[in-house]
Amino acid sequence: MEITSVGIVGAGQMGNGIAHVFALAGYDVLLTDVSHEALDKALALIDRNLERQASRGKITAEDRTAALGRIATTQRLADLGNCDLIIEAATEREAVKQAIFAEVLPHLKPSTILATNTSSISITRLASRTDRPERFIGLHFMNPVPVMQLVEIIRGIATDGATYEAMLKVVERIGKTSASAEDFPAFIVNRILMPMINEAVYALYEGVGNVKSIDESMKLGANHPMGPLELADFIGLDTCLAIMNVLHEGLADTKYRPCPLMTKYVEAGWLGRKTGRGFYDYRGETPVPTR
Ligand code: NAD
Repeated sequence: MEITSVGIVGAGQMGNGIAHVFALAGYDVLLTDVSHEALDKALALIDRNLERQASRGKITAEDRTAALGRIATTQRLADLGNCDLIIEAATEREAVKQAIFAEVLPHLKPSTILATNTSSISITRLASRTDRPERFIGLHFMNPVPVMQLVEIIRGIATDGATYEAMLKVVERIGKTSASAEDFPAFIVNRILMPMINEAVYALYEGVGNVKSIDESMKLGANHPMGPLELADFIGLDTCLAIMNVLHEGLADTKYRPCPLMTKYVEAGWLGRKTGRGFYDYRGETPVPTR
């Protein structure tokens, strides 16, 4: 099955990056979001990020213009009807994702592959609610998408071999490397990464360290390029909390209980970089720790 056009649902942090890499690889991209503002912001950001790549000599000015020309936007899911592959990258809430699939499915060709960028929700369960569990798959990109090399490919219990093979080729064509993960809560990267971030929030909650000392410790003591709290802000605390809840419920082990302090930040709307405040306050010139 030849894939030439890709529909991307959700134009947030991940959706814009996914649109960027697919357009650069020569796919026609149709990007959709419920929010007009999110679409405008995504296009502006893609333009800026392509410009940065061009100024560093990673792509040519022609590549940048051609990639931008391949991206169209719409607020109507029905417009995705002609796409060969749909990648859902909307908010990490199962009800949101299911509603999107229910709305888009009647407009799709039978051959269209449905992929989700979920960080943690069961691919098998999401697939079972659609008319094509055999052509449903997890395609888990890392943030920021244009920079990060890995894409996890997650087969649900019903995903067929042809869909899996097609996704291996797609990941190769966009110049990334895939790792195959089984469909268990949070797959590989987040199964390991999120409990570490959650533990860093517990260390903050219990007063073992403050934001600065925890991040400095992991950067200088474990050679991590970013501290865990800085990374949590970068990912989005709502996404981190959602993933911890999926691990906690899906594996029924108290070692995955989300830290109450993480819940409190999310309740405050302090979701990290995307809202201007999280474990750091980003509203000034330089990020200032909030604890
Ligand atoms: P985000 O909050 O930046 O963006 C989500 C976007 O989805 C928003 O623009 C919102 O308007 C849109 N949206 C919500 N409901 C919609 C609907 N019904 N139809 C169309 N658009 C809708 O979130 P994000 O960080 O981009 O995360 C998106 C997905 O990617 C989540 O499933 C998340 O788990 C996953 N993911 C996130 C990261 C990360 O580091 N942030 C990494 C890998 C995967």
